[in-house]
Amino acid sequence: EKYKPKEHACWRDGQPAPYIHLVRTFASVEGERGKIKAMSMLCNMFRSLLALSPEDVLPAVYLCTNKIAADHENIELNIGGSLISSALEEACGISRSTMREMYNRLGDLGDVAQLCRQTQKLLVPPPPLLVRDVFSSLRKIRQQGNSSKLLIVFLSVQSGTGSTRQKKNLIVKLMRSCREKEIKFLVRTLSRNLRIGAVLRTVLPALGRAVVMNSFWNCHNKEASESCFREKLEGVSAAVVEAYNILPSLDVVVPSLMDKDIEFSTSTLSMIPGVPIKPMLAKIANGVQDFIKLFQDEAFTCEYKYDGQRAQIHLLLDGTVRIFSRNGDETTSRFPDLVDVIKQFACPAAETFMLDAEVVATDRKNDNKLMSFQELSTRERGSKDALVEVCVFVFDIMFFNGEQLLALPLRERRRRLNEVFPETRPGFLEYAKEITVGAEEASLNNQDTLCRINAFLEEAFQSSCEGIMVKSLDVDAGYCPTKRSDSWLKVKRDYVDGLGDTLDLVPIGAWHGNGRKAGWYSPFLMACYNPETEEFQSVCRVMSGFSDAFYIEMKELYSGDKILAKKPPYYRTGETPDMWFTAEVVWEIRGADLTVSPVHSAALGLVHPSRGISVRFPRFICKRMDKIPEECSTAADIAEMFHAQTRKMNIKSQH
Ligand code: ATP
Repeated sequence: EKYKPKEHACWRDGQPAPYIHLVRTFASVEGERGKIKAMSMLCNMFRSLLALSPEDVLPAVYLCTNKIAADHENIELNIGGSLISSALEEACGISRSTMREMYNRLGDLGDVAQLCRQTQKLLVPPPPLLVRDVFSSLRKIRQQGNSSKLLIVFLSVQSGTGSTRQKKNLIVKLMRSCREKEIKFLVRTLSRNLRIGAVLRTVLPALGRAVVMNSFWNCHNKEASESCFREKLEGVSAAVVEAYNILPSLDVVVPSLMDKDIEFSTSTLSMIPGVPIKPMLAKIANGVQDFIKLFQDEAFTCEYKYDGQRAQIHLLLDGTVRIFSRNGDETTSRFPDLVDVIKQFACPAAETFMLDAEVVATDRKNDNKLMSFQELSTRERGSKDALVEVCVFVFDIMFFNGEQLLALPLRERRRRLNEVFPETRPGFLEYAKEITVGAEEASLNNQDTLCRINAFLEEAFQSSCEGIMVKSLDVDAGYCPTKRSDSWLKVKRDYVDGLGDTLDLVPIGAWHGNGRKAGWYSPFLMACYNPETEEFQSVCRVMSGFSDAFYIEMKELYSGDKILAKKPPYYRTGETPDMWFTAEVVWEIRGADLTVSPVHSAALGLVHPSRGISVRFPRFICKRMDKIPEECSTAADIAEMFHAQTRKMNIKSQH
């Protein structure tokens, strides 16, 4: 609160903000481990932008969060380490071999760039970089390759073309204008690895707080009580995060926050068909006993947990249907047949909607038998004649004809969903199979209920489902984007038989294989992610479940700039593999159980003060193409699973 947004800024009112304003904040935030202090540094940075050059706020939010567009736009920078090194070579006049030597020593391309720049003598000081120019250059760089996520493979074949040269020229131009630590953070931004702890969950509340602080500061509102100020501070910063969850578009949320100022609230913004909301997520339950205790005397429903791919299906006002994956990527082109089915079965009164569903590979010739998730992954993009047929199982509705339905209880949302599809067709479009348990039946003492649910669970397994989803129908039964809440629980076979859940982990390193596996990588070192500390924390070594073809594929994937010279500071583990990998992909891993480990660092401090959690007897199941590394299992998930395992052992020992 002592910060004076105008006086402490390094540029004048009405002028465009210099990039160095952001970079100085990045540098202080990087060295700060306390979340509150880091948040207040970001908040001060935004306060100056809001006071002196509000047009730079939106580009600054993008730069802080290492994004150049909303997730659903499928726009990525897609610049490889070799292009960055080549640009550095040209901008700083440092040879590749010197750079490689520096990289081996420092392990971070941003630090290498900084060192190159320091050793370079400049005759004429470069004109200062501006926040808006850096951002627009990044967007231009992206346009040079039209690098949508879907085109990545295609683009890698295109390297060396004119577009690469144009990209490089733009990067070199930016690099030549860098001052102080600008080049370090520019390079990190280019390699999509800013790592200053400024994820959206921190940046958006920081901006919300900045808006409130400036507003109170501007009015010199002496009468405003401390409590009113605090209330607004907390209220606006929470509202902006919530607004982003239902409308994940900075282009809409940031200007709206700036416009509404301290009056910004959760009701300021509404969902927009075409912009996917963050999906609701489930917590783990170990079995029927476990969740009935939670739902004691409350009505709930059990649905099949289908083994397919999450699909958020939108109908837009112009009649188009768009489909989005679990992490908000658009997948419409993979499912043209699904688009047709939705159009065919939706009631004529439907003008707009957003539905939640699971798309599952199905064998229509074999009595619509459901097939595994792996079958679905083999489906060719855009091909209606694809061998793999799919059925969509709808289970929720969040928006209908302009009305937001998130706050309605599931029972009511379901009623609305039933109106959208008065008819269904097996093997094409179905409602998720379910049973409803009334409030009066939901009790541990009710043997009939226990039998009914156990039979349903068994039936789900028999139908090739992963298990069941258990959802509250009336009490706390709203649709909560991003939240893993107690109103959605998942029960899988593994929870009943062995380890609570499969884990989604990221390979962060590997050893050289021996014997038959000589020349390949084996084992791989796997990690979970801790969003609080922004670290990948090791969980286990995995060496079983892989095919030979997979080993060969991994040898090709992890080569060149995907191999790091040394362990990055944001990898935490007691292991020392032969090589470290960049965090690229997510694999589903199944193990026997979880155990406290002196070597692995997963959930460090959450279960034991100085030890992590490890998974015993891990085995590779499949690639999780629908998740990016930061969306793998979190440290908190693993701690929760460990506690669930302990609870289960206690239940067993009681019996
Ligand atoms: P998992 O790896 O277990 O699928 P996840 O992290 O992708 O987990 P969770 O929220 O833990 O997601 O589990 C719910 C997932 O189960 C949804 O993302 C969805 O893809 C799938 N699913 C299948 N059937 C249903 C259903 N009836 N209701 C909700 N989700 C379902």
